[in-house]
Amino acid sequence: MAKQTIPGATSLVAEKLKTLGLHTQADLVLHLPLRFEDETRITPLAATMPGESAQFEVTVASCEIAYRPKRQLVCRVEDHSGELMLRFLNFYPSQQKVLQPGARLRVFGEVRGGFWGSEIIHPRFHVLQGDEALPTALTPVYPTTAGLGQATLRKLIARALAEADLAETLPPELTARLKLKDFAVSVRSLHAPPPGLDAEALVMYQKPYWQRIAFDELLAQQLSLRQAYAARRARGAPVLAGDGSLTQRLLAQLPFRLTAAQQRVWCEIEHDLAQPHPMQRLLQGDVGSGKTVVAALAMLRAVEAGHQAALMAPTEILAEQHWRKLAAWLAPLGLEVAWLSGSQKKKDKLAAIAKVGAGETALVVGTHALIEENVEFARLGLAIVDEQHRFGVRQRLALKQKGAQSHQLAMSATPIPRTLAMSYYADLDVSVIDELPPGRTPVVTKLVGAARRHEIVDKVRELCGAGRQAYWVCPLIEESEALQLKTAQETFEHLTTELPGLKIGLVHGRLKPDEKAAVMAGFVKNEIQLLVATTVIEVGVDVPNASLMVIEHAERFGLAQLHQLRGRVGRGAAESACILLYEQPLSEAARARLKIIYENNDGFEIARQDLHLRGPGEFVGARQSGLPLLRFADLEDAVLVDAARSAAEEMLAQWPAQVERHLARWLAGRAELLKA
Ligand code: ADP
Ligand code: MG
Repeated sequence: MAKQTIPGATSLVAEKLKTLGLHTQADLVLHLPLRFEDETRITPLAATMPGESAQFEVTVASCEIAYRPKRQLVCRVEDHSGELMLRFLNFYPSQQKVLQPGARLRVFGEVRGGFWGSEIIHPRFHVLQGDEALPTALTPVYPTTAGLGQATLRKLIARALAEADLAETLPPELTARLKLKDFAVSVRSLHAPPPGLDAEALVMYQKPYWQRIAFDELLAQQLSLRQAYAARRARGAPVLAGDGSLTQRLLAQLPFRLTAAQQRVWCEIEHDLAQPHPMQRLLQGDVGSGKTVVAALAMLRAVEAGHQAALMAPTEILAEQHWRKLAAWLAPLGLEVAWLSGSQKKKDKLAAIAKVGAGETALVVGTHALIEENVEFARLGLAIVDEQHRFGVRQRLALKQKGAQSHQLAMSATPIPRTLAMSYYADLDVSVIDELPPGRTPVVTKLVGAARRHEIVDKVRELCGAGRQAYWVCPLIEESEALQLKTAQETFEHLTTELPGLKIGLVHGRLKPDEKAAVMAGFVKNEIQLLVATTVIEVGVDVPNASLMVIEHAERFGLAQLHQLRGRVGRGAAESACILLYEQPLSEAARARLKIIYENNDGFEIARQDLHLRGPGEFVGARQSGLPLLRFADLEDAVLVDAARSAAEEMLAQWPAQVERHLARWLAGRAELLKA
């Protein structure tokens, strides 16, 4: 990486700037103020309202240390109109020294009513030496970090604005058509707006300039992701076209017909697979929408074309479920599915690896054991990753390398709102299954106070007595895995005493994989009627006979988690319910979450509201380690996201030089980050 320096910054300051992600003058130009302080005017003391920040010019009347209610420096100041107390709870002797009676001060701060009348606690002030002109611009307040003062930042940023290249990066056609302000004018107006505007007028004044910066940011994101997409597309991949011999046979043998949505996404995938460059597709579908069968079709297409296909899932439970399901579907077609997992007996694992390497097995399912170094594929044509966002960055990179010359399909049951998909996932093509298979009865959601827990226990007894099954999800304890485990065990023991005669199982993250598998197998066969579980069952578990989901301390769970958990029931034709037990008092945020999950069944709508509540960071998960989160753009502004997207296409096609300049401005300091 080229050595980057910021003129005027000492090495200590440069270190601090780095923690803010500021490496170059161009970065400083884009470090925009949070707010402004108006030091262009002097306000008479008598004219201030409590709660208002203002600047005063005063004379010190007295200054002494008070000892009650606690030790502090109390300084009485006055101007022609009134008086004010300045209070310093921490102070230096040097401060006491300059605050001598008769000293003239310029003071800035928020006035409130206090113990001794109107006061400012810890005001910013300086002693006036003779006549001092007032600043002519508003004073920007920048986001900063401990040990980096506003004054230093202001100086460096002002210098950057004067020295850095602020030339326009967008073609004039584009700025004119989109009615965008000029870049240099925009940053200057955002750092240093003209004086004399009140708060409301300032917002109105800055709006078009913020818009320009937000647009630029979205555009940079689109450009870099589309470039990455194009680079991967330029590589070759085997053409996976087939005669349909296997796919048709699978379809003919399924006990159901594909939904229209499944059919549509299968067409999209089928088309991609037949191209001589790698598919880069994300398949989204709400829990239970039937992604697995689409994955199976794609895998069979690879086999029809004489290649191998791999399916990788983030947990042992999920991977094994996929394996069993695929094996059952494909055995009648005379196809074997290999199994690879970390916990497998060494002998079995080596045998599976050997078969995959020799090309004897065309299909393999597993956990991340699939991408370990010693696994070599003879002719991998397609790699599918379920719940991709749950894998770590390292694992995703390994997969990318392993499958560099193959088609890739990622599947996700975490619905991603459209604007988010369009921005953060602009390097992928997205297919959406937006319809559930027919014959599902919607899950009834109930909010029940923890005091009525015994009623729910009765309900479980009754339901399991009638041959159905239930899940009981233990309270989430994020701070401590040990405590989480203890709670799960206690919950299991309680329920065992409360429900004698019921066969109850317990599954949690600390079980050995074969123990876990044994419990899950028992539940699948209805040998276990009530499954007490931690969130390990969150993704992918499919037991259609289970029709009740109880979640204890539901207020502690996130929206996506609750939606995923609820999706474990309602998979058969029976009426299903999800009981959210909650403990009072509820925080504001918890109340909002429970309300959303209670009122909505559609995963996309829940995700949209979640995005609104929490912002995009949580959604993109590990993705953010490779991509800077948007600082200025609001993803709910679909119009702007759309505009940036089409502008990116246009620029890539017609203005490559501007593309490079735009990316250099926005991403130069982050180039290393982007490669990860
Ligand atoms: P998810 O998208 O959550 O991975 P699955 O693939 O596990 O969903 O499918 C959920 C259930 O629905 C499975 O039991 C599956 O066999 C069944 N299923 C899938 N597609 C259909 C369909 N078109 N009609 C009826 N049932 C279906
Ligand atoms: Mg699934």
